[in-house]
Amino acid sequence: MSREYSAVLVRFGEIGIKSDQTRKRMIRLLIQHIQAALTESGVNFSKVRSEYGRIFIETNDASAAAQEASRVFGVVSTSPVVTTSASLDSIIDEGTSLAKLKFEKKKSFAVGSRRVGTHDFSSQEIREKLGAHILKNLKELDLEVDLSSPDQSIYVEVRDENAYIFTETVKGVGGMPTGSQGKVVCMISSGLDSPVAAYKVMKRGCIPVFVHFDNSPYSDETNVELATKQAQHLAQFIYNHEVKLYIVPHGDDLTDVLTHAPRKMTCVFCRRNMYRLAREIALIEDADAIVTGEIIGEQASQTTRNLLAESSAVCDFPILRPCIGDDKVEVEHLGMEIGTYKFAHEAVSCCSLPPKHPTVHSQLEAIPEAESKMDFDVLKEEIAEAEVIILRGGKRDT
Ligand code: ATP
Ligand code: MG
Repeated sequence: MSREYSAVLVRFGEIGIKSDQTRKRMIRLLIQHIQAALTESGVNFSKVRSEYGRIFIETNDASAAAQEASRVFGVVSTSPVVTTSASLDSIIDEGTSLAKLKFEKKKSFAVGSRRVGTHDFSSQEIREKLGAHILKNLKELDLEVDLSSPDQSIYVEVRDENAYIFTETVKGVGGMPTGSQGKVVCMISSGLDSPVAAYKVMKRGCIPVFVHFDNSPYSDETNVELATKQAQHLAQFIYNHEVKLYIVPHGDDLTDVLTHAPRKMTCVFCRRNMYRLAREIALIEDADAIVTGEIIGEQASQTTRNLLAESSAVCDFPILRPCIGDDKVEVEHLGMEIGTYKFAHEAVSCCSLPPKHPTVHSQLEAIPEAESKMDFDVLKEEIAEAEVIILRGGKRDT
């Protein structure tokens, strides 16, 4: 009788309610990414397969596989499972063995169960019989049943001819599989919010193309270093797709902005140029959108009027701002959770140029006048001088 975990049960959420065709495509992507995550981390597995509503990883290293798979976008949670046949006797036998191994003494417990397929026993019977058997046969653990708030639980999931038994669940990153959406150009400043914004769209299945604008001589090189670390860190969440970071010089057009824009509005003009540069990269990369970390009211450049003044610089690509309605503290928490917070610059401005009293209500009519004096060929030159770093290798065979 084996009490070893032989597989990992992988749960996905939203994917399950998609139409047949979309669901199949997404599950296929999810399986490919799980395989890549396991291979990359050196976790042994023999197969990753799907059964309606679930994915199973067959492996003799289930605890490690459950951890690795939980970091793949689209995965809601994972559990290392003992696999047995769908008969009440073997469920009770294996379930009791697993409880003996995993349950702590003098604690309460509950049995959870669900069933898909036709069987000669009900879910309720599994709960009652396994619970009673555990109580009777593991007297040395001094357990008691508590169905409303148990200290520990054992679960049985019966699917056709197999039963899967588990006690642990690892929370997954959720979202949709990478590549289920298109490429997006993610503007990463080295601040706190923009990597979180990038993560949010990556989580929804987008493939990021990172871009950092190097503001030197108006900033020091630590910003480039931090932005690179942020992008490298985020790239680790992406499997089976190439991930690039563009580092684009942005000093020359800033000089132009400083020379021709009203001083109170220089940040607005700076953003307009960043969006234009991001648009050029979107065209090169065949991306569908530009992503920024703006939050309403977080900075002077992020008031609703200034966002209007900035956004009109690019009209043929959507500018996505996934953090727009978040409170700063929510973004900070997510930044800590996903690991980008530690690379964010602390209280150091990513640029030495902000005016003392930046406008919070841009004069829209000032824009064409100032920009008529600027030389936009500079932007093309900056793109041509961009450094492109490949953070992640390309596609695997499908
Ligand atoms: P962050 O949002 O990253 O914390 P921030 O709050 O200082 O930075 P702003 O300087 O107002 O943001 O810029 C707004 C958005 O423009 C940023 O969220 C980021 O997406 C983008 N951005 C700003 N500076 C840069 C830069 N140097 N390189 C790339 N993108 C940038
Ligand atoms: Mg910000």
